[in-house]
Order: sequence, then structure tokens, then C-alpha cells
Amino acid sequence: MLERARFLDAGDPLREFRDRFMLPDGVIYLDGNSLGCLPKATPARLEEVVREEWGRDLIRSWNTAGWIDLPARVGAKIAPLIGARPHQVIACDSTSVNLFKLISAALAMQPGRKVVLSEPGNFPTDLYMIDGMERQGLAKRRLAERGQLIEALDDSVALLMLTHTHYKTGETFDMAELTRAAHDAGALVLWDLSHSGGALPVDLDGCAADFAVGCGYKYFNGGPGAPAYAFVAEKHLEAARQPLTGWMGHAAPFAFSDDYEAAPGIEKLLCGTPPILGLAALEVGVDLIAEIGIDRLYAKSQALSEFFRQCLSERGVAIDLVSPTDPARRGSQLSFRHQDAYAICQALIGRGVIGDFRDPDILRFGFAPAYLRFEDMAEAARHLAEVLETGEWQRGEFQERAAVT
Ligand SMILES: *Cc1c(COP(=O)(O)O)cnc(C)c1O
Repeated sequence: MLERARFLDAGDPLREFRDRFMLPDGVIYLDGNSLGCLPKATPARLEEVVREEWGRDLIRSWNTAGWIDLPARVGAKIAPLIGARPHQVIACDSTSVNLFKLISAALAMQPGRKVVLSEPGNFPTDLYMIDGMERQGLAKRRLAERGQLIEALDDSVALLMLTHTHYKTGETFDMAELTRAAHDAGALVLWDLSHSGGALPVDLDGCAADFAVGCGYKYFNGGPGAPAYAFVAEKHLEAARQPLTGWMGHAAPFAFSDDYEAAPGIEKLLCGTPPILGLAALEVGVDLIAEIGIDRLYAKSQALSEFFRQCLSERGVAIDLVSPTDPARRGSQLSFRHQDAYAICQALIGRGVIGDFRDPDILRFGFAPAYLRFEDMAEAARHLAEVLETGEWQRGEFQERAAVT
């Protein structure tokens, strides 16, 4: 298997990109879907922003270094990677905060409708944000299982809000089909692209999506707590109103007027002063993903995950796959169910294979295609097989849970 892996690596058109990331020795990193790796160019860029733009040029950098345009500039670079046009995307705030802004905007555009429809088991923050709005009397939360979502779209639904690639199972929704069904029922659609953006092709405009959000620190490698991004379809840019009416979203922030007037374009999604260091780091990550190209990343991601499954099967590892077996129906990850998933995950981490555990019984491996090799797949599969065969995970040290799992 190792031989075959090395053969595949030698023919991998993306092999040179691995060297553009800092990858610690002795680690096989299968968690790029939680926190992407550090691009080698990031420390140097941050050093420049800190020492020169901040340290030397000080406040002038808002103009001279283009700080004021950074949220829109990074957003415009993310746009083509998610099937959007540059003026429809902005990098700002966290995914959670952007969800609040866009759910609110959608509800305000749907007089007489209050229901936000989603699925049980969606990423917690997505459900919690609807919950919080329900407590304020702004929304009504309705959850329906995947197979019943289309049926649940009646004339009280203002917004269908879904995560394109499920964080636990990796299963993807058919964005075009669900968006169409929502529109047919008079509902708007908000897609959370956190586990899709930067790894698989997304066609927001092609699907006529209304709104979207996504994460900067996963496949875009923007660093811990990197700013997120938000998309508003061109046809809604004028009508959409978001409730966090901070001064940076004003049409003329530096007119210092007493009255709020929303910026006409995507900048209306801004609230407070943008985090320049975080945006500068995110820009490096986005540039690198754009340079590699989503189609090539997606092709490699599918090849990696299929090869991983093949390695497991050749080793006779019997563990329940909860991700779709068809690579076209999943994101860049494979998840397995095991009642001792937590301890197995810890035992793997002890061997330098970093995947993650999702409560209560999911063992999740993300295959960030920009920097992983087929050799990593073969080795990770070998470690998993050994951990299971030897019962190594039963050791006491692997049972204890840390604060972040
Ligand atoms: C990672 C993730 C988030 C993260 O939200 P934050 O506000 O950055 O903590 C949101 N939604 C989904 C689906 C995610 O996978």
C-alpha cells in the first residue's frame, strides 16, 4: 500500500503545494476541516503588517496599506471559489455573527412569515442562533429531517437555512434542488458553507442562492478564529437590511453623521472596525487556495478519501462509515461510528495522527487536499488498524476528556 501511495504521490499534480505549508514532523494532520494548517507565507505577511503597516505607518495604513478595503478585498477573492461574483461577498466577523445578520435580513424581507427551517443535528451554532432569535420573538424555529425538508416548506417558512456539508457525517445537500424547492414555496435560502468553502466546488449564483456564510479557519487556512465570510445575492443587495448597524456598515462612515444609512453594497454587512491582523492572515490562506484551484482540490480530495477507504478495507478494518460511500455526495472528510470513538481518537493522536472526535461516537477524518499525501492516507489507515487490533485505545490515558474535544 505504501508503494502504491508513493506512486500516486509522484503523479499528484498538487504535490508541490505541500511545501507551502508548515507541517510539523511526525504528524499526519487529518483535521484541516477544524483548523487549517499554517501557510508558510503567513508569518512573513503578518510580520510585515505588524512591523511596517502598524508599527511604522500607524494610522495612515488605513489608506496607504488599504486596510479599510480589506474585508471587501478578501471577500472578492473568496467569491469565485464559492460561485459568486466579487461584489457579493465580504470577509467579516464570525460565522455565528454573520448567521444572525443574514437570518435577520431574510426575515425582514419576508413579511408575514417567521419560520426558519433547518435540520436537527445541524451545527450547533446555526441552531442556537435561530433559537436566540426565537426567544426574542423574531423567528420561529422548525426542524425537519433531511428527507422531510421539502415537505416542511409551507407558506409560513421565511428562510431555509442549511449547512451544505454536514460537519459530522460529511454528507452534502443538493444545493440546486433545495434552493429551487425553497423558492417554489416562497422561502429564501441561507447556506452555511463552513465545511465546503475552499475544499469543494460551490455554485451559489448558479443555484440562485440568496444568502451564505462560511468559515475562514477551516479549508481557507486563515488561522484560529479567522474572520468568516458572508454572501448576499446581487438581487438582494439593495433590499437586505442587517440589524448590527455599526459605523463600518454606514454608507459614509467618516461623515460621522448622527443617523445610520446603510452602505449600498455588500459593505452594509460590516459592523465594527475590521480585525486587520486576522484578515491579513486569511488573505494569505485564500490566495493559496485560489492558486491551487477548487477543481483540482476537489478531485484530489475525492481520490484521497477513496484511497483511505481502500487502505482500510485491504487491512480488514471493520468500522462503520457514516459518510456517504459515493464521493460525489460528501465533502472532504470521512466519518466513522464507534462507541469508543473518543479513546480511539486519543490513541491516534498519541501516534501523531490528528483527526477528531465528535460527540457521542463519531471519529472524523478531514482530508485537506492542499497539503496531504496519499502516503499519509496509507499510514493513517495503518495506525487506525493497529490501534483497533491491539486495543491500544483502552489504556487509561486515552479515556480522559479535555475541555476542547
Ligand atoms: C465551524 C462551523 C461554524 C463556526 O462558527 P464560528 O462562529 O466561527 O464559531 C459555523 N457553522 C458551521 C456549519 C461550522 O462547521
